[in-house]
Amino acid sequence: MLTVEGLRSRYGRIEVLHGIDLTVQSGEIVTVVGANGAGKTTLLKCLSGTQPVSGGTITFRGESLTGVPAHRRPARGLTQSPEGRQIFTNLTVEENLRLGAFLYADDRVDKDMQDAFAMFPILREKRNLPAGGLSGGQQQMLAMSRALMGRPSCLLLDEPSMGLAPIIVRQIFDVVGSLKALGVTVLLVEQNAFGALKIADRGYVMETGRIIMSGAADDLIADPRIRTAYLGI
Ligand code: ATP
Repeated sequence: MLTVEGLRSRYGRIEVLHGIDLTVQSGEIVTVVGANGAGKTTLLKCLSGTQPVSGGTITFRGESLTGVPAHRRPARGLTQSPEGRQIFTNLTVEENLRLGAFLYADDRVDKDMQDAFAMFPILREKRNLPAGGLSGGQQQMLAMSRALMGRPSCLLLDEPSMGLAPIIVRQIFDVVGSLKALGVTVLLVEQNAFGALKIADRGYVMETGRIIMSGAADDLIADPRIRTAYLGI
């Protein structure tokens, strides 16, 4: 579904992605794990089109994304749930969800919203309240749900566990794991390597702008180098 080859990106004169190769097959959950500053967010921004690419190619569902602006990528089926959630704090929960469905004006929007409420019932309770009043975990649920309202075939998720209490992190990861059954392919970038690898099919390990290891998620969890460097085991 998604093929990234030799991807490079820079901030000014400083290159931070030095030739990333990565694939995501339809129906997979793939995670990119790595420490703070490894380049995970930059990679996702290149995929969603909000960060310029200085080399390499991105192919999504058989078509090159080169020259396709960020605002046209959701219509192709590629949607990002950004780092830091970026919800509209002065709009209500429901208004935020409806913005996620900006491409659509059909009856399915209401059904999709009911699906979001079924996934995260707290959002139903708070649907008419300003999103700025939600807790961090609830805002993350809203950000993910808003991205899903765009009916992506591939969801790009940036650090959904960031700054959240362990019990909420578990809930979020459970939902991400369940998206597969709904036919959504997921590319998840995370510092929480253990949580991410536990729900993923495959994983890539990123260090200073390069992929240094990749494989089946179970194999990565069992790898002594990963256990020491990333899982604290
Ligand atoms: P985090 O978990 O903190 O988001 P990350 O793995 O996502 O880390 P990036 O945010 O992609 O990493 O950052 C990769 C490198 O690019 C880092 O060295 C960072 O300092 C640098 N960087 C990120 N954003 C900018 C920017 N807007 N201008 C200049 N350098 C940047």
